[in-house]
Amino acid sequence: MRCPYCGFLESKVIDSRESQKGMSIRRRRECLSCKKRFTTYERLEQLPYMVVKKDGTRQPFDSQKLLRGIMKACEKRPIQISQLEEIVEEIESILQDRPDKEMESSEIGQIVMERLKALDKVAYIRFASVYREFKDVVEFKHVLENLLKEK
Ligand SMILES: [Zn+2]
Repeated sequence: MRCPYCGFLESKVIDSRESQKGMSIRRRRECLSCKKRFTTYERLEQLPYMVVKKDGTRQPFDSQKLLRGIMKACEKRPIQISQLEEIVEEIESILQDRPDKEMESSEIGQIVMERLKALDKVAYIRFASVYREFKDVVEFKHVLENLLKEK
């Protein structure tokens, strides 16, 4: 590993620490030439999880994109970001358990909607309206009516 200070190629590892989930290792190194210290990270290379879209095409699962989508529905609502991260983590762990590492986008949307419904009704309606692409006001009304019935 090349020293970022002097470019020397040899260094010694003075400390190794594994991250909490065992996904990466952080190493403190010391350059054998200039003696300055620097840090390197070793990460597990993961196979991408795939999302199967409505038309049958697949795209890699992007947890940040999903989180952004949920955050948008929760704008100005009294919900903590950590609660939204939990939803994304839950979906990731379901994906991890799938032998084919695939999940349908409709299934992901369904889980998000269920979790949001329990957290905040406004966020739920917002997410549902984007996710389900309501074709007309009747469909939207239908979802609202169901929501009111459940109370
Ligand atoms: Zn150096």
